[in-house]
Parts: sequence; structure tokens; C-alpha cells
Amino acid sequence: NAAMPANFIEVIINEDNKTGKYGNRVHTRFPPEPNGYLHIGHAKSICLNFGLALKYGGKCNLRFDDTNPTKEDVEYVDSIQEDVRWLGFDWDDRKFYASDYFEKIYELTLELIKKGKAYVCDLSAGEMREYRGTLTEPGKESPYRNRSVAENLSLFEKMRLGEFPEGSRVLRAKIDMSSPNLNMRDPVLYRIIRAPHHRTGDTWCIYPMYDYAHPISDSLEGVTHSICTLEFADHRPLYDWTLEALEIYKCQQIEFARLNLTNTIMSKRYLRRLVEENYVSGWDDPRMPTISGLRRRGYTPEAIRDFCDRIGVAKSNSTVDIALLEHCIREDLNTKAPRVMAVLKPLKIIIDNYPDGQVEEMTAENNPENPEMGSRTLPFTRELYIEQDDFMENPPKKYFRLTPGAEVRLKHAYIIKCEHVIKDEQTGEIVEVHCTYDPDTKSGSGTVNRKVKGVLHWVSAAHAAKAEVRLYDYLLTAQQDQEEEAKDFVDTLNPDSLEVLTACLVEPSIKTAQPGSRFQFMRQGYFVVDRDSTADLPVFSRIVSLKDSWAK
Ligand code: ATP
Ligand code: MG
Ligand code: MG
Repeated sequence: NAAMPANFIEVIINEDNKTGKYGNRVHTRFPPEPNGYLHIGHAKSICLNFGLALKYGGKCNLRFDDTNPTKEDVEYVDSIQEDVRWLGFDWDDRKFYASDYFEKIYELTLELIKKGKAYVCDLSAGEMREYRGTLTEPGKESPYRNRSVAENLSLFEKMRLGEFPEGSRVLRAKIDMSSPNLNMRDPVLYRIIRAPHHRTGDTWCIYPMYDYAHPISDSLEGVTHSICTLEFADHRPLYDWTLEALEIYKCQQIEFARLNLTNTIMSKRYLRRLVEENYVSGWDDPRMPTISGLRRRGYTPEAIRDFCDRIGVAKSNSTVDIALLEHCIREDLNTKAPRVMAVLKPLKIIIDNYPDGQVEEMTAENNPENPEMGSRTLPFTRELYIEQDDFMENPPKKYFRLTPGAEVRLKHAYIIKCEHVIKDEQTGEIVEVHCTYDPDTKSGSGTVNRKVKGVLHWVSAAHAAKAEVRLYDYLLTAQQDQEEEAKDFVDTLNPDSLEVLTACLVEPSIKTAQPGSRFQFMRQGYFVVDRDSTADLPVFSRIVSLKDSWAK
């Protein structure tokens, strides 16, 4: 959005362009690890990185950070590409994998060892932790720290050749065991992992650490501004050290605040648990904050991009109210989604003075906010269904829906009046509401200007289609901030996050709507046709209700 004031990253880029630091080049990257599906937090990073490239006429790479073979899979590589494309971004021919650089990183590492800046260390993981020290105590140097270059080269070579068991040795940077920054206390650069990699197979049994592979990948790709989340601020000295020590092209790391959202969790680790422990139906369960979940839920890419624009780019962490995301989809669908009628919990209405067998085609505009969407016809008959909640035998004050003796308007049709009810003799439940209609009150006829407060949605009993409707609530009952994520989030799962209604009736026009089609069900919210729909039973998922709780 060109009209928005520059965010702090744009301020940095503008300054760099002024000084010619990168020769007016802007080159970013989005670097997901293919170990899960992308979530709305990643969408923020995607919009930011690809957005900056678009704004400055630069480039943005899609790079898979695939340096940990034990957790990664092609399934995730594929889903990530689908999600980035669906959001509306394109990497053209700039798709890369950190694993493409394994050989290059290995060669650079040999140089690093030759410079005396890295050594093979035989301490166990536990010992290394002990030697590392704490924030208040300096670390201790490893007894292997002063191995000769020749010995290090030979041992590293043997690590690569698979001569040592997993976990027995690592390659470490030789930096400073008394640095106040724990990340600089001789961090591990390479570890032995005996697991097939989804791209390189069994070629490697040593893998570079993220903190080491990342700056090298950025550098090799000519990235100018390497944008990551705040947790990595403490890693920046290592990022810079790596580029300096290897004497390769220097890019700069810039940290911004990660997106946190109320009532959901946003970490692949926890999202995977939801999937694996069957709390949800999959990564694309419509309750999931994943891009694929939001897509299935009926969110549009436009709404997600708008959301990312509105939350902006900050330097300190905060939690965004999920109501803002909901506001964005309502705004987008307001003029896009046709307004139709669906009865979720049906109650039968019989209009005693309407001729039996008569079918009247009522004209209904598809969207009063968007006249271009035209109109359709709705069959009106003697037997109809309305919502159970829209009738009360003994109403409280200010109940403007249908009650005995009272009048309401049936949307796009007539004013009706309730005459009497018929109850089930055993249960006492109301099974039929008998009404009369006033033929002079047909919608759009302009003949009678009689005011009634209630306007109800309805469907014709003979024409309505059966449907299943799925209503969603938040996954978590409480706000989950990052600290809380450490606790067991399962305790805060909302047990009522899914409600399935199987006896719904929808107007005939949407009976065969294609999966992915979106509608506003009058007075009920926005809905999307789910892929679980069959020819006999369409399935609609509620995207969001109509009530906007976002305080502007
Ligand atoms: P998670 O912590 O959810 O597993 P991650 O950071 O490990 O996510 P990556 O695949 O490494 O996932 O992330 C790819 C990019 O997306 C990184 O640059 C990361 O900074 C960014 N990113 C991840 N989560 C968020 C978030 N909540 N808000 C903004 N950016 C994010
Ligand atoms: Mg990660
Ligand atoms: Mg992470």
C-alpha cells in the first residue's frame, strides 16, 4: 500500500538506497523450514518480504530452509508453494533450497577451519551445555578447542564420510566462551545426523546448523535485507560473524515482531500436535490458523493481505485481536458474497390462506451492497420453514420476531401473522405454526407501506435442499501468549469449537454450489461450501458470523 507511511524496515531500506549500500538493490527472501504447514504468522512474513520486493522493484526468493532432515518432508514443500501462490505472490524462477548449498557450505567450512576459526569437539551434548555457562557465568573452553588445523580438517572430513556415530562429535565455531551473548560461546556449526534428507537422500550425514546455513544462504543468493522475527536478534552477532569470518558478501539481518493472535496458537510444533493427536481433522481443519485451514474456512487471499497490511510491522511483540482478522473477511465479502436464505434449525410454517399447490416466484436481489450482482427468484408456497429461534410462544419484551397474534415480514415475500400453533401431544413441542398472509404486502410491489419490526428468512418446504452446516468457535478458550505456550495448551482447548447441524434447509439456488463458493446466509453469517459436499448433501462451513466485534 503506497499510501501508508513507511514502516521501520522501509526506513532502513530508504536509507540504504540513499547511501547506495547495495546499489539501490532490494532483495528479500521468505525462508520457511518445510517441517509443517504455513500459518497466518507466516502470511505476515510473506506479505512483508514479497511486498517489499514489489514496492521497491526488487526480488524476493522463496527458500526452503531444509537443514534438518529428521523433521522435513516434500509434503510440506508442496503445501508451502501452494499457500504462497494462493496468497497472491510469485517467486518466478527464484525457488531455492538451503540443501542446494550443502557442498558449497562444506567447502566454505574447510576454509574456516584452515583459518583456525572452527574446531571439531568431542564433548557430549550434556557436557557442552555445562561448559557453555549461563547468563551470569562465563563458559569454559572445551578441551578440544586447541586441536591443530590439520587434525580438525581430518576429523571433519571423517565426520562427512560417516566414520563417527551420530552425536559423537560436532564442528564448532571458535569465538568466545566468555561472551555475554550465549550464542557466541563457540556455537555448533555442524552436527552428525543419520537420516535421509528429502532432497539429498543419503549423500550427507553432517548437516549445518540453521544459524550457520542461514547467513551463508542469504549471502550466496545476494539477499540485501534478511528479515526475521525478534527471537533472532541475539543471533545477529553470529550471523555477522559468519559472513565476516568466511569473507563472503554481507547482507543484513533485520528483526521484526512476530504475529501473535488471540484464541489460537501459532507455532508449527503445537499445530502438529493438534493434528497428530486428532484434536482437529488435519492441517487444513477450518479451525486451524494455517493458511490451508483459513482457505478451507473460506478466507480470501485479499482479506489476509489486508489484515497483514493493517497490523503493520513493529519492533516489539504484541498480540493481535482475532476480531481484526474477522473484520477483514467481512469487509471483503460484504460486496462479493451473494445473500441467500438458509434455515439452520427449521420450524414449519403453514400459511392457511395461501392456495395449496400454488408456487409464486419471488424476486430477490443478490446483494443490496452490489446491484451488479443482479437478482434471482425464490419459490414461495403455502408450507415454509423459518428458524426455530424466530418463533416464541411466550416472548419476552422487545421480541420482534414471530409470536402468536403478531406480524413479521418474510424477506422478499409477504407479511404474515401467527394465528395458532400445533404441538406434539407427547412432548409439548411446537411442530407447526399456522399463519395467514396479507396478499397486499408483497415485497417490491409498493402497494402497502405497513411497518413491521421483524424480517425473517425462510425457505419453501417443497423446494428447499437439505444441507449440513458446520459452525466454528475458537480453538482455544483463552488467549495464548508465547509464555503460555510453554504450558500445556491442550488444557485451554475449547471443547465446543465445532458444532455440526445436519437438518438444515437451504434455498434451491445454492443446492449445487461448487466447493469454495461463498455466500452470506441472511442473519447467520458468511458461509463457504466445503469439499465434503456430495450431490445429495451440500456442506456449508461458517466463515464468520455477521456481528463485528472489532473496535475501530
Ligand atoms: P514456528 O515457530 O511457527 O514453527 P518458524 O519460525 O519456525 O515458525 P519457519 O518456517 O522457520 O517457521 O519460518 C519462516 C519465516 O516465517 C521466518 O522468516 C519466520 O521469521 C517467519 N515467521 C514465522 N512465524 C511467524 C510469525 N508468527 N509472525 C511473523 N513471521 C513469522
Ligand atoms: Mg522453525
Ligand atoms: Mg520458530
